[in-house]
Amino acid sequence: MSVSPARSRIDGARLLRDLRETARIGATAEGGIRRLTLSPEDARVRDWLSRAVEGLGGRVERDRIGNVFAHFPGGDPALPPIGFGSHLDTQPTGGRFDGILGVLGGLAVIRALRAEGVETRHPLCLVNWTNEEGARFAPTMLGSGIHAGIHDLAAMRAVADRDGVTLGAALDAIGAAGPLVPGATRLAAWLELHIEQGPVLERRGLRAAAVTGVQGLRWYDLRIAGRAAHAGTTPFDDRRDAFLAAARLALALSEAAAEEGGLATFGEVDLDRPSRNVVPGALRMSVDLRHAEPEGLDRLEARLKALVAGIETDGIAAGGIGARLTPVSASPPVRFAPVAIAAVRAAMADLGLEAFSMLSGAGHDAVNLAGLVPTAMIFVPSKDGLSHNPAEYTADADCLLGAELLLGAVLHLDRML
Ligand SMILES: [Zn+2]
Repeated sequence: MSVSPARSRIDGARLLRDLRETARIGATAEGGIRRLTLSPEDARVRDWLSRAVEGLGGRVERDRIGNVFAHFPGGDPALPPIGFGSHLDTQPTGGRFDGILGVLGGLAVIRALRAEGVETRHPLCLVNWTNEEGARFAPTMLGSGIHAGIHDLAAMRAVADRDGVTLGAALDAIGAAGPLVPGATRLAAWLELHIEQGPVLERRGLRAAAVTGVQGLRWYDLRIAGRAAHAGTTPFDDRRDAFLAAARLALALSEAAAEEGGLATFGEVDLDRPSRNVVPGALRMSVDLRHAEPEGLDRLEARLKALVAGIETDGIAAGGIGARLTPVSASPPVRFAPVAIAAVRAAMADLGLEAFSMLSGAGHDAVNLAGLVPTAMIFVPSKDGLSHNPAEYTADADCLLGAELLLGAVLHLDRML
């Protein structure tokens, strides 16, 4: 099933050019992007976005956490704007599409409406949320979380990165914050175009999905403390090896998560003073649990806690190993709003696409917006399901289709709300 370019309302060449042009900001040798939130690269792409918005006659506002709201008038100024967009920050080894397609696709929607002289009833608001990735400052989806009243601005400004730079200092260093009180920008609805970041669409040979919700996640820090010792002279049964304890826990929890239909990931393992010939004495590791149901997350957390308690008694240590689990953040499973999902489905039907719905495996700013206003997402395929990787790729035609669907969904929602 294909959409003929003749029917396309999106200026595809321009969208692809925008994707290429912004991909140079923080471009890596591997072909991806490293554009950590509130870095000098983030500042440059924010400037790029502001110029693009002003070039389209939009008005840029920024709130105190640096969320960018680009306003475009509609026919009825009394109505709150329909919001759409995503994020322009990336992982340290990020790709060229995660978040970026949602913002640049949003620009393409505005451009198409301008070119056609179509005026929506609702004003429109293109948003770039600050620090969606959470790679530099935890938690993830931070800017939208402050907008939604989930996080406190002052507390989040005090969060430090690995170099000890606080989020507040980083925000001030690039002048990203504006005067708006977070949350002051009331939206009528939220639509987010995003790459799937998983293999489902590609495997099924589908080109798009209406996203009906997002699986939940819980993040923890786990500190494991044993005893550093000589690698050559310390027999196994005299060791208190923090890394072996961590490895056993990781294997056991992965098996538990598979049984429960969820996922467990240990993306950061930092040994204290690592050395080739020293038995690891202590470490910190991150734990990321995901499940589509709240009860599933509860079960996974219970199994994690049991495994942590078991570290001290599991027989791999002489004299004991200590373990301390600290919750870092949590995001419950989310169901999107029927009206917003219906707008996406209507846009898919307009283009003759197969009606297909799915849950998102990844967290998105839409999770936070869903608590405020009718929200839905559009997914387009990720090649080989890869994301958070320089090889992340979505075909040109799928990027254009995504923007086309976003345009259609905005217009349907404008009539439905
Ligand atoms: Zn993203």
